Order: sequence, then structure tokens, then C-alpha cells
Amino acid sequence: MAIYDPKSLHAEEFINHEEILATVAYANANKHNAELIDSLLEKARPKKNGSGCTCAGLTHREASVLLACDIPEKNEEIYRLANEIKQAFYGNRIVMFAPLYLSNYCVNGCVYCPYHLKNKHIARKKLTQEEVRAETIALQDMGHKRLAIEAGEDPVNNPIEYILDCIKTIYSVHHKNGDIRRVNVNIAATTVENYRKLKDAGIGTYILFQETYNKESYLQLHPTGPKHDYDYHTEAMDRAMDGGIDDVGLGVLFGLEGYQYEFAGLMMHAEHLEAVHGVGPHTISVPRVKHADDIDPDVFDNSLADELFAKIVACVRVAVPYTGIIISTRESEAVRGKVLDFGVSQISGASRTSVGGYTEEERPHDSEQFDVSDQRTLDEVVRWLMKLDHIPSFCTACYREGRTGDRFMSLCKAGQILNCCHPNALMTLAEYLTDYASEETRAIGKEMLQRELQKIPNEKVRAIAAKNIDDIMHSNKRDFRF
Ligand code: SAM
Repeated sequence: MAIYDPKSLHAEEFINHEEILATVAYANANKHNAELIDSLLEKARPKKNGSGCTCAGLTHREASVLLACDIPEKNEEIYRLANEIKQAFYGNRIVMFAPLYLSNYCVNGCVYCPYHLKNKHIARKKLTQEEVRAETIALQDMGHKRLAIEAGEDPVNNPIEYILDCIKTIYSVHHKNGDIRRVNVNIAATTVENYRKLKDAGIGTYILFQETYNKESYLQLHPTGPKHDYDYHTEAMDRAMDGGIDDVGLGVLFGLEGYQYEFAGLMMHAEHLEAVHGVGPHTISVPRVKHADDIDPDVFDNSLADELFAKIVACVRVAVPYTGIIISTRESEAVRGKVLDFGVSQISGASRTSVGGYTEEERPHDSEQFDVSDQRTLDEVVRWLMKLDHIPSFCTACYREGRTGDRFMSLCKAGQILNCCHPNALMTLAEYLTDYASEETRAIGKEMLQRELQKIPNEKVRAIAAKNIDDIMHSNKRDFRF
């Protein structure tokens, strides 16, 4: 029997089945333990530290107790604390991005994904470089600056060279005032050598969802293809970091397995990255299984109610305070609105999950990966965020200034967020408002800019930001950053 060891490089030791079962049992045994829950909330609360603040986070066992907590008043406190932590480290900024599907050719047999090899009726598509260019222009014309590229696993149709060519094409397109400044990558687990190539191509975050941490379920859910190898998949982030990638993004596909098991696994994975590489996950995604061509989500009997889903988001925020939490358009406007208050810091907007979808007038369904619940335009999402008092941010400055990995955390801990990320967010919002927004959105945005500029504590930084915003709004000067 494998022994739990967060520092081990073997999947079965850092994601240890027995430790997860013991964690879930411990959490359930303590779900009414008000004293313990109070002490965990106290431990997780942000603490002042000179000009900034720090947050201790929680271990997988501690976080699992909060998730199991069955005391209504304490649950309300968990939600409040999640919001407090989000405000302390990210303020009211919400980073915007869109997925770009490059190819849905896939040799795997994932039973929840319509791209599985046996699906013979889905249209198989792979973008040419000309089409990548056209999709990039369509995304730039909406106002996007940050993309997550997506592809099925197929060494013949989508080899690493194809992915690298696409990244190069995306970065090379500068249409009107548009450019894509950060390309995140969500492709199948690969070798250290290939991760190094991705790093050299200038990618932002390497994202790979674990799907499920339960090995037995994983093997059944991925019956064929290279993805069947649980250990290779689970150890991918270590190879990515060995290949020089600083920012990695974890995720679980909620609905496949019991949520308590998945949550404990996710927390253990974050702890493992911190223990081995000195830096935790840059982002954590919380997708839920959706209806898709050939896929009925009801066959997976672990679907989560919205209330529980929101609690998972809050507990991730409390346990891993510095991570970005991502919510995609798999979720409806109502659910997205709710979890924004519990710690989400990045959302996608106007997403199309089909290959070549952005250049089509109507949302195409033939090669779609899953049904999109939030079908609003980017302008509608941006306006909605501002009405809820969130700043839509198109900022990519940290990555381009080399503030990745633990350097981003230092910025948070030094309390420099309001003098750095906040003005950067406002300047990129000003770019969006000037170049892409509707009249109505622009009017709301201008008011927000004036209001939010006043929050910058350093007088000099505030004056420079105000001048830059003025330049953006009255000329073609772009891409200012702190
Ligand atoms: N092929 C890569 C891999 O295996 O990791 C890229 C992943 S795929 C393009 C992106 C993610 O979509 C998957 O990791 C999976 O979690 C998610 N996904 C697949 N089918 C889904 C469905 N029916 N509903 C919601 N999300 C789904």
C-alpha cells in the first residue's frame, strides 16, 4: 500500500487514495464541530503584514472540514471569508479570457467528452494557420487579449509542432488596435521536452484538468488512448514545471466522482506543487460536466446542486488564497454571478467551443465540445460585471513583466496589488471601452474608471494611470503597464 507523501513525485503517493478516504471521513466526523470550524476560519483569515497582508491557507484536511461543515451560520462565515480573501488579494478585478479550439481530432476514449475516438458523427475539424489567423482576428475584434487554446490529443493530427505553429500565428496577429498578449494552453499531458517547447513559445499558463482524482474511476472514464495512463496524467504538472513552465492550472471535472473525494484530491495536488516546486497552482478551474453531442450528463450520477458548487468555490478560495479561480461559460449567468462573490477571479466571455466557431455568424454546433450556458456577447458580460461593481480586466502585464510563479505571490504579500494590478486593470479596461465597447457599456465604464482611479493609494501612480487612461481614450496609444 502506498504511503501519503506530498513531496513524492509518484502520483499514488502525493494523491494518496487512503489519505483521501481518511480526509473525507475526518471531515464528515467534524461537520458539526463548531470549535474546530471557528479555529479554521480564524487560521484562514487575512492577517495584516506591514503594508500588505498574508493568508495562511488551509491543508486538505482542514479545507475538507469546511466543505463538510453543516452549520448554517458557519457556512455563511465561509462565504464571507471567501469574499474577504478575494478582495484582499485580487480586489474587485475579474480577468477576462476566451477559449480558442484548434482541433477536435482525438485518439482518446474519454466517456464524458464528445471528441472521443468512437464518436463517428461529430464533424472533425482542425484549423489551418490561415483559419487560426481569422479566429484570432475575430477574438481581437471582440476585445479579447488573453486566450486559452484547446485541442484534442492526436499525435498525427495535432502534434506539438502544430500547437507551436498556432501559438506563433496567434501572437503574430495585430489587427487594428488588437493583439493577443497571453496564450494559455490546455492540451493533453506531454513530455518535459514538449513543455520546454511550449515555454519557449511564450505560453502563459499550462492548464490540464485532472478530470477525476479517483484512479479506479479515472481508468473507467478513460478506457482507451494515451490518457488512460493515470500516473502520466497526474504527474504532468511536475513535468511541466521541470520544463520551465512557472504557471500551471489545475482543475477537476465535477460530476464524474464524489465531490468530497475530488476536492480533497485537488487540495492535495496544490499542496504537492507547493511542497515540490515552491509554488502552488496559478489557477484552479471548476468545470462541471455538460450536455454535448453524444454525451448525456445525467449518466454520471455525481452531479452537484448549484448551492454545493458555490460552496466548493468558496472553500477553494479560503484554502488556496493566492490562486486564480476560473469559471467558464459552462455555467449560467446566475451561477456565475453567485460565485463571483465567493472568490472567482477569471471568467471567459462570448466563448465558442467549436473549432472555427468565432468566424461563423451563428453559434455552430457541429464540432462543439459542450453546450455553453452563458451565451452573452463580451460587451454584455463586461457591462454586467461593471454593474455588479467588478472591474473587467484585460491585463496580461504580470506575465509579460516576468511576474509569474512565486513572484506574483510576493506582489500580493507586499500589498502592491492596488498600486500595480489595479491601475493595469483600469488601463486595459480603458482600451476595451475605447476600441470595442458599445455606447452604453462605455458610459458605465467611464464612470467606473473615475471611481476606481481614486482607490490607487500612491499619488504618483494614480497620476500616471490617469494620464495613461486619458491618452488611451483620446489617441491610439496602447499597452501601458506598471
Ligand atoms: N485534450 C486535452 C486533455 O485531454 O486534457 C484538452 C482538454 S479539453 C479540450 C478541455 C476540457 O474540457 C477537458 O479537460 C474536460 O475536463 C472538459 N470537458 C470534456 N467534455 C466535457 C463535457 N461534456 N462537459 C464539460 N466539460 C467537458
